[in-house]
Amino acid sequence: MMSKVAVVTGGTRGIGHAVSAKLKADGFRVAALYVGNDEAARQCREELEILALKCDVAESLDCRNVIREVESLLGPIDVLVNNAGITHDAALHKMDDNAWDQVIRVDLNGLYNMTRPVIGGMRDRGYGRIINIASINGQKGQFGQTNYAAAKAGVIGFTKALALETARKGVTVNAVSPGYVDTEMVAHVPADVLEQIKAQIPVGRLGRAEEIARCVAFLASEEQGFITGSTLTVNGGQYLV
Ligand code: NAD
Repeated sequence: MMSKVAVVTGGTRGIGHAVSAKLKADGFRVAALYVGNDEAARQCREELEILALKCDVAESLDCRNVIREVESLLGPIDVLVNNAGITHDAALHKMDDNAWDQVIRVDLNGLYNMTRPVIGGMRDRGYGRIINIASINGQKGQFGQTNYAAAKAGVIGFTKALALETARKGVTVNAVSPGYVDTEMVAHVPADVLEQIKAQIPVGRLGRAEEIARCVAFLASEEQGFITGSTLTVNGGQYLV
């Protein structure tokens, strides 16, 4: 049987890179999508021997085109990992329209833009795995992140609603909700704030991208068809839901 095809948005660095690597190791044919860094994409292509294609998830036309391209190169998409995400922090009373719009466009609209063009095919074929990366801060809130928390809470709501729509069609839809993970996103957090954050993590350290990737791979596997609409929290015990 042909190996299954997986698409990972923001799949060439951070958590996305770890997901691409894990799915490849698990035998998937993987297309990692990236927005800006051609050099990182080239390295990823060579290192992991996967496809790396440019796609801004905030642009619906980009998404439709890249999905068509993946389908023509690798075949129908079995697994979609919506991982791309950004932060643009500011307390709401200081937030500008751009910070709000950018985060909603990438973290929430990106989910629609990518999922809309694949969902029909998954339903028709009677099989699919969709895994959306949420965040602890969408579950518990965080100072300076009304935009990000709104988008990530939205990711969880989207996951539940779509899970209901597709349950009879062999398509599971789940969220993985990381706590603080050691990637470039967290590198932007000031050192003193990061120390305070670490002090709040019962496990006593940041998460590793590979630990998130294992959860994604678990939910992406064919053997696992009875978990749907769930949010798997992977946060070192920082927030228990
Ligand atoms: P990262 O900044 O290293 O990676 C983000 C990825 O998203 C990059 O590959 C980037 O190119 C991609 N991306 C950004 N804008 C995009 C766009 N418009 N179109 C396509 N791709 C785009 O961060 P990360 O920590 O690896 O984050 C991955 C996901 O995990 C994000 O959704 C993030 O919100 C979530 N998350 C991260 C943490 C953490 O502590 N690092 C915690 C909770 C949730």
